[in-house]
Amino acid sequence: MPEGDTIFRSARALDRAIGGKVVTQFDTALASLASVDDNAPVIGRTVERVESRGKWLLVHLSGDLILVTHMLMNGSWHIYRAGERWHRPRRDMRIVIGTPDFEAVAFNVPVARFYTARTLERNTSVPKLGPDLLGEDFAVDEAEARLRARPDEQIAEVLLNQRVMAGIGNVFKSEICFACGVHPFRLVSTLTRAEIECILHTSRRFLQANVEDGAEAGIVTYTGARRTRRAAYPGARLWVYRRRGKPCRRCGAGILMRRQGVGARSTYWCPECQPESVGMPPVEGWSTRLRK
Ligand SMILES: [Zn+2]
Repeated sequence: MPEGDTIFRSARALDRAIGGKVVTQFDTALASLASVDDNAPVIGRTVERVESRGKWLLVHLSGDLILVTHMLMNGSWHIYRAGERWHRPRRDMRIVIGTPDFEAVAFNVPVARFYTARTLERNTSVPKLGPDLLGEDFAVDEAEARLRARPDEQIAEVLLNQRVMAGIGNVFKSEICFACGVHPFRLVSTLTRAEIECILHTSRRFLQANVEDGAEAGIVTYTGARRTRRAAYPGARLWVYRRRGKPCRRCGAGILMRRQGVGARSTYWCPECQPESVGMPPVEGWSTRLRK
């Protein structure tokens, strides 16, 4: 699933390509969007801005119309110069927003709806997001309070909850816990203030580091490699994610993986750098702990 940083990058690239421009072409394979377009045509409106909120991407159009999309697992937005050949088949096209020089094409986007400012504010299907870790007005105190409000939940699960903080996905979840030496299954109530501060600052730092690549207008997809380490070659970009059984880059102990939460998402950690603590539920398969 795309993480907040990739959505942020895509929103920024889309904003650079079509922001401020008049829509000269609109097409959609989604009936719910088409019916809105029939009544209140998109062509002729100006793209005021494109923004991300966590994993949601919002295209603000003049005349109080907001296109809201969520990529789920397979969706992506591409940007093409006018007349350029698409890299995906036309049957996968869900939305096209064309301006005089660019085409923004959403492929296989499963969740897309038009809103007005008021219906977006009211509608509960777009969750009220927590503070966006990439937002300029991100407040550490507010984020800490939101974390503390879930004392009985496991920290890695809470990090994925977009209502607490928007932007962290499954890869960063494990990386952030590692960076702060926090066992991912620890309950929030067991975390010290220093640990929570570390988690918040690291979350923001990792996400920011991954949006500073300066993606220019061109083909933008959600497959960009993500990194939390300053390493040039792709295999060394992450500390623990997808490194089960491999030696910890810091201490050499074998990295562990366990499914976590209702979504049974994979969680990776180092048993030495991230020791278990009180408040942690019993861990099955603890004997699988590996040594270098
Ligand atoms: Zn380690």
